Amino acid sequence: MMLKDYISKNHIGTLYEYHELKQYTTFKIGGICRYYIEVSSIVKLSLLIKYLKKINYLYYILGNGSNLLIDDCFLDCVFISLKKLNKITKLAENIYMLDAGLKPNLLGIKLVKDGFIDAIPFCLIPGTIGGLTYMNASCFKKSIQNIVKSVICMDHFGNIIFLKDCQFSYRKSIFQELNLIILKVIFEFKEKKEDAYSTLKKYQNIKKTTQPMLVNTSGSMFMNDLNYHAWELIDKLKLRGFSINDACISMIHTNFFLNKGNAKFKEMIALIYYVKTKIFLEFNIKLKLEVKIITIQSIAYSKNNLRNKIDWEGNYESF
Ligand SMILES: Cc1cc2nc3c(=O)[nH]c(=O)nc-3n(C[C@H](O)[C@H](O)[C@H](O)COP(=O)(O)OP(=O)(O)OC[C@H]3O[C@@H](n4cnc5c(N)ncnc54)[C@H](O)[C@@H]3O)c2cc1C
Repeated sequence: MMLKDYISKNHIGTLYEYHELKQYTTFKIGGICRYYIEVSSIVKLSLLIKYLKKINYLYYILGNGSNLLIDDCFLDCVFISLKKLNKITKLAENIYMLDAGLKPNLLGIKLVKDGFIDAIPFCLIPGTIGGLTYMNASCFKKSIQNIVKSVICMDHFGNIIFLKDCQFSYRKSIFQELNLIILKVIFEFKEKKEDAYSTLKKYQNIKKTTQPMLVNTSGSMFMNDLNYHAWELIDKLKLRGFSINDACISMIHTNFFLNKGNAKFKEMIALIYYVKTKIFLEFNIKLKLEVKIITIQSIAYSKNNLRNKIDWEGNYESF
């Protein structure tokens, strides 16, 4: 049976064929995928994952696309969106179970108004619950890892797993290591402050003045380190505003790379590796990417759990 027939016979979700991906990324870069599906439930997702395993076909889980640089060629795989899984379940005054496809911005603002200052990442980072947890996102020293209590996820056999120890570290989690799909996350908000909302407003203003707004970007391109800030290294090399056609380094924040309109995947890659090479030659530092580069090879490697061995990026690690 064809994948398309299996999906329609089992009512797995809404399916699109030969679908353009750039509309799902904040960079507005991305090619055409063979299939794009918005799954309708966890049970249907499990059926789909099991079937994809059986026919040995590649898949990739998409959140809000705010940390991705996707190849703009044809991608022969299924992009799976969980945006229809977006339920909010309140378990106690400060404990919530949230579906992975939810964008928690409005809930975050409500929680901060109630004083829960540790909900600030929900308000200021443009991701879904799945993406925020997978990336262990953080801002202003408030991190997702401090509020996650436990996670319900799915392995690549379609089995449901309940996890308490998510092995979080800076922009890392067990979900990346084991290639798990996050389904629901239970959050516990513990830090209550009277001035939480005014602090949020202050942080919003800081973001507004120090980061480019209303532009096509994926946020910080490179990770920071205890010994350096990536933006400072880039700034020292006087690369503020440097561009390769429409792929450009922001004038406002040098770790934010922008698509000024028509940037191609390869131009953004050229810019990334130009900066990486210059920084390495000047400071002997190998910057690590925070943004995930998605190609058909990277999807195939992660499926086979080879991510750490032959990372797509690994080809460039030898310089
Ligand atoms: C303007 C701007 C500002 C930003 N500021 C910050 C910031 O302050 N701090 C910060 O940490 N980040 C920041 N980011 C980056 C980004 O928003 C975060 O990394 C966010 O957590 C990504 O979530 P997403 O839903 O968009 O995930 P996506 O970008 O869609 O995906 C990111 C990764 O998560 C995986 N993923 C998504 N959902 C699931 C799931 N359900 N199960 C398994 N894997 C999944 C994807 O496969 C992918 O590997 C910013 C980005 C932008 C554009």
